[in-house]
Amino acid sequence: EAKKFAINRKERTFKRPVDLNGNFQKVSEYYGENVFHYLTAPGIPESIKNELLTVSNSGNKLKKEHADIVAKAVTEWATAKGATHFCHWFQPLTGSTAEKHDAFLDLDGELPIEKLSAGQLMQGEPDASSFPNGGARSTFEARGYTSWDLTSPMFLMDGVNGKTLCIPTAFVSYHGDALDMKTPLLRSVTRLNDVATKFMNLIGFTDTKKVSVTCGAEQEYFLVDKAFYFSRPDLVMTGRTLLGSLSHKNQQLDDHYFGRIPERVLSCMEEIDYELHRLGIPAKTRHNEVAPGQFEIAQIFREANVSADNNQLVMAVIKEVAEKHNFIALLHEKPFAGINGSGKHINWSMATDDGMNLLEPGNKPEKNIKFLAVTSIVIEAVYRRAKLLRMAISSQGNDHRLGANEAPPSIISVFTGSNLEKIFEAIKNGETVSEEGKVVLDLGANQLANLMMDNTDRNRTSPFAFTGNKFEFRAVGSSQSISFPLSILNAAVTEVFEESIEFLEKEIKASSVEAALMKLTKKWLQSSWNIIFNGDGYSQEWVEEAKKRGLPNLRTTADALGALLDDEQTKYMVEKGIFRKNELQMRYNVLVENYNTLREIEFQTQMDIVKKNVLPATLEYKKRLGKVIKVQKEIGLESSVEVEMYKKLNFTVESLYANLMNLTSACSALNGDAAKNSLEIANNIFPLSEKLAQSCNEVEDLIPNELWPLPTYYEMLFLR
Ligand code: ADP
Ligand code: MG
Repeated sequence: EAKKFAINRKERTFKRPVDLNGNFQKVSEYYGENVFHYLTAPGIPESIKNELLTVSNSGNKLKKEHADIVAKAVTEWATAKGATHFCHWFQPLTGSTAEKHDAFLDLDGELPIEKLSAGQLMQGEPDASSFPNGGARSTFEARGYTSWDLTSPMFLMDGVNGKTLCIPTAFVSYHGDALDMKTPLLRSVTRLNDVATKFMNLIGFTDTKKVSVTCGAEQEYFLVDKAFYFSRPDLVMTGRTLLGSLSHKNQQLDDHYFGRIPERVLSCMEEIDYELHRLGIPAKTRHNEVAPGQFEIAQIFREANVSADNNQLVMAVIKEVAEKHNFIALLHEKPFAGINGSGKHINWSMATDDGMNLLEPGNKPEKNIKFLAVTSIVIEAVYRRAKLLRMAISSQGNDHRLGANEAPPSIISVFTGSNLEKIFEAIKNGETVSEEGKVVLDLGANQLANLMMDNTDRNRTSPFAFTGNKFEFRAVGSSQSISFPLSILNAAVTEVFEESIEFLEKEIKASSVEAALMKLTKKWLQSSWNIIFNGDGYSQEWVEEAKKRGLPNLRTTADALGALLDDEQTKYMVEKGIFRKNELQMRYNVLVENYNTLREIEFQTQMDIVKKNVLPATLEYKKRLGKVIKVQKEIGLESSVEVEMYKKLNFTVESLYANLMNLTSACSALNGDAAKNSLEIANNIFPLSEKLAQSCNEVEDLIPNELWPLPTYYEMLFLR
């Protein structure tokens, strides 16, 4: 019986809309048509816009009568565009998004009217009890509140017969505990703004009124044909293949990366871009990634909170549009063993309200010194809070990218590039400051201008890299919300900014601002020097070297999550109210539970596949071989080949079965608390599952294609 995974090549002919002359509409003609921002929307008086802007910048409470005006305007706008419902759109601790729809319907007596009230715009009360809360709420206070985030625009989501207006909101408990990803992010950008603005004012940029965090996320994903996907229970249940023998040609040739985009994929990407542009998300770059079947999309950077919301939508749109093209988009960090996994690069910097990028090297000496100081602040922050940063990107999926056999180590280090390292080394060793505290080394516009060049041969092995005028946090997982790592990074940088201000306030009394900044830079570089690493982050030597330097190497999620409960690591964030202490405990509980559950689902699914698919296939093949051997014997033919094949198969199946039994009993023996179980899973059970996968692959290599009951790596990665 030949297996059939008929792929559906039926092309979806996606066509961008055309204008009256039959030309494709320009992006600028439909960009943002599905978003409503109070600043650009019709129906809102200028004076109210300014008030809203002030509220949005200050975090003060919004007046009801102002919300009322927005509610009326957005109702008119949305219903005219075919919206029937509105919802508060939020990001619970799972890292995904949640929404509960309400109709734009109210009754005036018996008369139906379209309405969204100010109250409904500003606050919602979803039944929160079934969202993960890490034990924060007992049932008597199971209420959670969503509240409108003015800083992120509302948008329309397509439905089958109408649209839904999504209102970005934060999600907090009755006691104000953050039950979501957005709240801490908003708190962190507010704190960072406070200290960074103060810092800028102090060093002479007296016009600076605001410093925002800028962020642009690059998103990697795989596309596989729908037919293959639905024939792989492991992909459906866990998002990754739990077994699968690597095809002989995979990514060794590097011929996929930046290669010509296959037509079927290009059409899908065009529609993804189109939908994102309508949502006012500035999708910019699209290309093939390193692995076969892997692709990337990047958007133009913007304010961090908006970027975080955007990235959630990017993931949602990729998935939805892919399905229309008969693909399934895999956002898992490691859908296929042995080839590249997927990450999300968070490009991160800070910008003033008048558009100055604090990480721009620039070409004026005084700006250079500001750049050097700010960069050293970020490096010190990463050095000090490396454990928290590692924690913030941990997940069972990302464990396959960090610290696993074929992945870079889970050691946080900072890549500066060799030019910047040279400059920093001079500063660290005091070679730039003369006796009188004057800066003597020519930090040279030239040297700094070269930074961009230096970064063109980008070190792709670094988890946290300086790339010309921004840092790029590359170890982030492809499926996770970027809000959490952003919050942690912002908090870490805020802490060092604050200390820097104290330091400078004293120093500036005694010397020039420039000399004080130089001294500050020197101080941070001296303390954080060990985190700078410009070599090959994937090499074994680095693991050893990092150990010598005393850098943490938290290999698995189970190891990394502990940082959330480490007072030394978290006390600053708690003091500043970026996270409340119980919120950290909540997150710990949710993340540990999540890790355990997802791994257990993987183990169960894998054992199921072995029993229901792999072992039966071996029986079929044995039957075939047995028949041949029998016939040959009957006719007196001396051939040992089939007997050898049979023996080899039998031997492999026996070891497969032994591995299956080992995993089965290890799983049923799990009986500790969540934290203990996570360590047991990471250190002892997961390796058994990997072993089982290994024997499955050995079996797969022995079985004829037509008897193998699952789509192969070859089919999934190369056929489209
Ligand atoms: P590369 O391809 O070299 O990684 P790009 O110039 O394509 O770099 O930028 C990658 C991402 O970095 C994009 O999302 C871009 O918008 C973003 N980016 C550029 N400048 C900044 C900045 N100052 N702050 C945050 N993100 C930025
Ligand atoms: Mg990049």
